[in-house]
Amino acid sequence: MYQFLRGRLDYRPMMVCLECDQQISPLIDDMQAAYMHFRENHPRVFAEMFRRIKEALAPKKCLEDHDRIIREHVGHGTFKIQCRKCRRILWKPGDPVPEVHGPSPEVIPANPVPEPERSDTGFDGEKAA
Ligand SMILES: [Zn+2]
Ligand SMILES: [Zn+2]
Repeated sequence: MYQFLRGRLDYRPMMVCLECDQQISPLIDDMQAAYMHFRENHPRVFAEMFRRIKEALAPKKCLEDHDRIIREHVGHGTFKIQCRKCRRILWKPGDPVPEVHGPSPEVIPANPVPEPERSDTGFDGEKAA
């Protein structure tokens, strides 16, 4: 994961953050300081780092179309359906049977109630400036 932070650091000759141009540490490779710096100053970068770590650790996404497998096999009986590739149980008796025929129903957006126009700002503290 330090690889990720390293891409956001510069060594000239001290450790400098490329996000804010701040010197992080007088040492060349003080990843602990970098870690702290990003955690405190760049939470978005920090969160992104963790997101990538999580992605890297997560099981590989199965390339099989699970929905298709379910659709093809769900009508064949009462046995559970397991993906041959990732061994995941895709459907088992008792699960809701997915709609096989016809397109999925369109999602009808709830009719948004138009907000009443508020023209009179009357008592508006921010208006006075
Ligand atoms: Zn920084
Ligand atoms: Zn699978």
